[in-house]
Amino acid sequence: MILAQSFTIDGILVNNCLQFTVWSILSLLLAEIIRDSYHALCHQVTWLAKWHNKHHAAYRRDLSLVSQQAYIDSQLYHDIVESIILLVLLIIVALVGKQWGLWLGVAYSGTFLYGASLRYFQGTIDTDYNHLPGPLEAIPSVWLVNRTYHWRHHFDDVNAYYSGVFPLVDKILGTGLSLKGKTIALTGASGALGKALTSELINKYNAKVIALTTNPDKIDEQTGLKVINWQLGNEEQLKENLQKVDILIINHGINVYGDRTSTAIQNSYEVNTFSALRLIDIFSATVTGPQAKATKEIWVNTSEAEVSPALSPLYELSKRTLGDIVTLKRLDGNCVIRKLILGPFKSQLNPYGVMSAKQVAKGILFLAQRDFRNIIVTVNPLTYLLFPIKEFSTWLYYRFFSQGVNSNLNADKRR
Ligand SMILES: [Zn+2]
Ligand SMILES: [Zn+2]
Repeated sequence: MILAQSFTIDGILVNNCLQFTVWSILSLLLAEIIRDSYHALCHQVTWLAKWHNKHHAAYRRDLSLVSQQAYIDSQLYHDIVESIILLVLLIIVALVGKQWGLWLGVAYSGTFLYGASLRYFQGTIDTDYNHLPGPLEAIPSVWLVNRTYHWRHHFDDVNAYYSGVFPLVDKILGTGLSLKGKTIALTGASGALGKALTSELINKYNAKVIALTTNPDKIDEQTGLKVINWQLGNEEQLKENLQKVDILIINHGINVYGDRTSTAIQNSYEVNTFSALRLIDIFSATVTGPQAKATKEIWVNTSEAEVSPALSPLYELSKRTLGDIVTLKRLDGNCVIRKLILGPFKSQLNPYGVMSAKQVAKGILFLAQRDFRNIIVTVNPLTYLLFPIKEFSTWLYYRFFSQGVNSNLNADKRR
């Protein structure tokens, strides 16, 4: 009897804890959505923009303050106003919802008001981690908004990168990466996907596209497009052209299908793996200057062959190696490197593809704007399951058993 009673009590306790946890998480999510939606609105509604612009007017490109007064004003008209709105809305939700967990969101938004008030009265920037002055040392973070992530809101595109703590709203709105007016170079530009990407980028995003191709005759002239001829092995010659490029898309490749001769092996690795690696290294060397880490990116088409059969052993082998090399390179954190994990689409390499290149190009850009670092566009459901497991385990293994350039230098110094 007593045993049954204690089980009942424990059951109620567990139920209450579960309820509290669920409502707490919901209230935190709500706080994030309200705060960042308010920020997005500030860039759309003129009378809200007036106050919010005080925030934008307070910083120079290196995030140093324009003046102490501009900073104090920005705290009052933006940070304090924003956190009071957030706090009031969450208190209303908690009172109406009558759930204890909802008060966690109230406490969370209270910390924003506390920080903003402290900054306003003391005039110091210490608690404002996203606005500390100085060169940008890290790449934009995926899970939490860091200084480099937020810098892009001020100086890359004010109509994007709205998130302040967790990049949730940017994922929903597609404002996690702005392509507007960017200079984007891509290899394999004369192929089906290269052409589809070029057309989307120029027509929809007003981007300047540089087509790097070994077949310039196959590319039609159009406004916003510059064609540069290159030959395999001559990647070094592209360095000058890549200096001012924001995003390099490495998209060229060959498929030798069933061929298994030594020549086929060498060609597959040379085109699909090593020329891509050379381009990654050459582009990485252009990531210089105090703000380059915020805007420079490499996208590598490693293809679904990284985890799924492509009915072409050498295509799989060379693309898997490229995929693994990208995982290694990402550990250095030199610039954002996205993988394009693409399923079969109709092209010269694959006349039997089930998707169209246009669909795939749209899918890539949709996910890139939501800041997905591994962009999976395929009809094969297994890839969505297998790729994250493969990527995470490889990343973990490489992280433990490899060293970057900086660590090697440190080890040399210790010797
Ligand atoms: Zn800011
Ligand atoms: Zn803003």
